[in-house]
Amino acid sequence: MTAAAFESAIAAVREACVVTRAVQRELCTGDVLRKDDRSPVTVADFAAQALIARRLASADPTVVVVGEESASMLRSNDQAELRRVMIERLRPVWPDVTVDDALAAIDIGGQEPGRAFWTLDPIDGTKGFMRNGQYAISLAWIVNGRVEFGVLGCPNLSADLARPFEDPDPHGLIIHARRGGGCWSIATDDPACVPQPVRYEPPADGLLRLCESAASGHSDQLAVGRVVEALGGARRYHLDSQAKYAVVARGQADCFLRLPVRADDREYIWDHAPGEIIAVEAGARVSDMRGRPFDFGVGRRLERNGGILCASPEWHPRVVAAISAELAGRDR
Ligand code: AMP
Ligand code: MG
Repeated sequence: MTAAAFESAIAAVREACVVTRAVQRELCTGDVLRKDDRSPVTVADFAAQALIARRLASADPTVVVVGEESASMLRSNDQAELRRVMIERLRPVWPDVTVDDALAAIDIGGQEPGRAFWTLDPIDGTKGFMRNGQYAISLAWIVNGRVEFGVLGCPNLSADLARPFEDPDPHGLIIHARRGGGCWSIATDDPACVPQPVRYEPPADGLLRLCESAASGHSDQLAVGRVVEALGGARRYHLDSQAKYAVVARGQADCFLRLPVRADDREYIWDHAPGEIIAVEAGARVSDMRGRPFDFGVGRRLERNGGILCASPEWHPRVVAAISAELAGRDR
């Protein structure tokens, strides 16, 4: 894959950020959220997948894209309104788009993983998106089971490290990393901005800063609590999406931990692929809860891994040891 192809992928994520922001403004008018009408979220998912998959395929028509969404539901007769809103949302960045174009573009993402492929989650952290919290547009290039390039569009994450995660930033960030090339951030709304290096820096004091899912069903929070206790306590932050990897990469936290609720829970590749390379290239370590590296080469899920641990080089071995003691305690 060429540097130009990676630049084009970043540009595609930038376009998708424009669209998801527009949908979010509509969500924030209140009416839609009160009715618990999920359609604007679906519009954002579909529109973002269409834009990104189209860009990837126009750079290389033979490319394999493994996306989370499929257009099959959108094709049904009773989804005419959803299709109309999707087109309306796409027009500012894809002026001559038709319904057929958009559906075909979404379905580019309906492929199976191979030796080399893109994986795409057009809106990671739907729950965060719904409440104007953190969410991510997630795209990664995988070769032989290893992530080689990743980009996370984080439209609500601030360049200001002191801004609370629940306070959405008006500009947002795109964070990207190429294997061996470091981790970089740019504003979502300024294509001419100079990329800034992203590097994990340890904090002045020694208390662990840990981030985890906002959704209680996505991680065993009680078990995380016991691990934290064994480590001497922590400041705990809750946020949605792979923004958590970005938060560790930027040194706003020392650890992102997810312990499976059920022993056989397996994560989707698109929920971790860009996060992994971004955190690693910023100087953090990423593994499953037992310290094993991820294998992205065994299908749509991380079938050979359980749980998620992204942490600084100082904290990673200590957290692995504390998790190991927690798991051993369960077996007794
Ligand atoms: P997070 O924002 O870290 O909670 O992760 C969001 C992602 O978790 C979604 O994209 C889903 O693919 C995934 N997910 C959904 N349900 C579960 C679950 N029960 N356990 C773990 N992950 C889940
Ligand atoms: Mg996701």
